[in-house]
Amino acid sequence: MHVTSDTLGLIGNTPLVRLKGPSEATGCDIFGKCEFANPGASVKDRAALFIVQDAEERGAIAPGGTIVEGTAGNTGIGLALVANAKGYKTIIVMPETQSREKMDTLRALGAELVLVPAAPYSNPGHFVHTSRRIAEETPNAIWANQFDNIANRRAHIMGTAEEIWSQMEGRIDGFTCAVGTGGTLAGVSLGLKARDEKVCIALSDPHGAALYAYYACGELQSEGSSVAEGIGQGRITGNLEGALVDTQFRISDEEGLEWVRRLLDEEGLCLGLSSGINVAGAVRLAKQLGPGKRIVTILCDTGFRYLSTLYNPEWLRAKGLPVSDGLEVV
Ligand code: PMP
Repeated sequence: MHVTSDTLGLIGNTPLVRLKGPSEATGCDIFGKCEFANPGASVKDRAALFIVQDAEERGAIAPGGTIVEGTAGNTGIGLALVANAKGYKTIIVMPETQSREKMDTLRALGAELVLVPAAPYSNPGHFVHTSRRIAEETPNAIWANQFDNIANRRAHIMGTAEEIWSQMEGRIDGFTCAVGTGGTLAGVSLGLKARDEKVCIALSDPHGAALYAYYACGELQSEGSSVAEGIGQGRITGNLEGALVDTQFRISDEEGLEWVRRLLDEEGLCLGLSSGINVAGAVRLAKQLGPGKRIVTILCDTGFRYLSTLYNPEWLRAKGLPVSDGLEVV
């Protein structure tokens, strides 16, 4: 068995699982990269570690310093655990619309939590701009800046993509995922295409995001909305610049939730909605590429982070989303 010398060694090297339902539905082999197996239970631990290590290498952060970040929650959790392991403090700015479980986890990790109303990116009160201002005003602090700091995507070029390539033994036809910062999509696309330029890279965009239209016709345009946390981007972030995208899908919350439920009921995997949207995208990509292909997607975080939302019938009903039979109390 693999033994690591410290907690940070637990980040990355996540398993890959063949997803039975999606594979059977398409005649392909569809695999999920189990990012919920990271110590902070999400894909964002990887970016958090690379961002902090990069700041240390540049001499930007001193012992006892503070890391400030604006986040939907998962990057904050990753940063807080990396900070605890290295002796830094964290101030995390988060929109108040995100799940209570992520807020409770951040408080338990000792992060100082600043909740702000959800606002468009053009509003100075947006969580990203608020976090930058707090970083500027706090002595001995750095702003992690996950959206435009490309230490984020380096974590996926050097880690996620290389792991996928070796776990698939160099035989992979397609990859897809959604975009929050774009670190995962851009990093994995660059890493896999450097290995084999024929790997087809697909964007799976939720409703309400502007990237589907950007990759389809060159214009940032959004349509509809989504309750998915951590994904749904309206601009080309620094991390997304230069991403190698061959095709794109627009996935509804209903389509993503259907896979979240099937993976829970039929395969015992408890996931968040961005994972469901990714799996729905992998199924669409499989249908596009044809039977017999080998496709990988990202299982971004654990569903235990959304027990009060995605797995709560009252919340689902209030959002106008379908409630599965398994969730109703008999
Ligand atoms: N899913 C979840 C649950 C997330 O928190 C994030 C990160 N915001 C993503 C997907 C997207 O990852 P990335 O930032 O690398 O685009």
